[in-house]
Amino acid sequence: LVKRHLQLIVTQFAEGDTLLFIREVTDRVRTEQMRRDFVGNVSHELRTPLTVITGYLETLLTDPEKLPRTYVRALEQMQGQAARMENLLKDLLWLSRIEATQGQEKHELVDMAALLYELQDEVSGTFPGRELNLELLCSDTIRGDHRELYSAVSNLVYNALKYSKEGSPVIAAWRKEGEYCRLDIRDQGVGIDPVHFPRLTERFYRVDDSRSASTGGTGLGLAIVKHVAAAHDADLGIDSTLGQGSTFSLRFPATEQSSGDQGHAEAGR
Ligand code: ADP
Repeated sequence: LVKRHLQLIVTQFAEGDTLLFIREVTDRVRTEQMRRDFVGNVSHELRTPLTVITGYLETLLTDPEKLPRTYVRALEQMQGQAARMENLLKDLLWLSRIEATQGQEKHELVDMAALLYELQDEVSGTFPGRELNLELLCSDTIRGDHRELYSAVSNLVYNALKYSKEGSPVIAAWRKEGEYCRLDIRDQGVGIDPVHFPRLTERFYRVDDSRSASTGGTGLGLAIVKHVAAAHDADLGIDSTLGQGSTFSLRFPATEQSSGDQGHAEAGR
């Protein structure tokens, strides 16, 4: 039995007529699946040799005084690049995992406010001198996957921190908006020219290569956010002004447990 994939397109006209199209997309789905598997497998296979290389570099650098200075500098450079490659493979594997589970129903109930507190603590530990300010105006839970949501929100928060100066505020605002729950991550950093908006969530797309490379990102952060949003039926919104800052929003459908605004407003815990 061959599994076939069909796409149903519904077009509704103002006069009240409805047109249904059914299109076979089996080939497209298969090619996409092959691409995903290939990227996932290659990333997985590259991890083992990389772990061996990092292990040897660590051993060589345990006693740097015994080595000529030029060797130490070269080995440290290699260690830095190996760490970058490790992050890249980690993000690629994570992205293919999220893509593979797309479409599966999510059963967990995720408390967004608790997730943001968790992230706030992580930020204080990893970005000395910076903090994540919280505006919590909603106590609703989200039906979803905690790990995926945490990775999406932390990517947005780390971007906000990376692309803004020390001392400039980064805010996560969680509130109810009609039938939806909305999370805004706001910064007053470098901002983005709107011409880049359509391509921002593509894998490896960067506004300014030299600046982005120096911030140590992998170029996969927003691609991860886009896929997590899609897997949670959420809309990703981007609003930014060059030189003034950016707001990235995730708008989730409310769960049936939603109890409306609880109003436990809190800023900059
Ligand atoms: P990276 O790892 O390069 O940060 P991302 O996919 O997370 O990759 O982001 C893609 C690009 O979008 C970044 O390289 C950066 O140019 C731009 N960008 C993302 N978030 C922000 C932000 N908050 N402020 C300014 N530019 C941003």
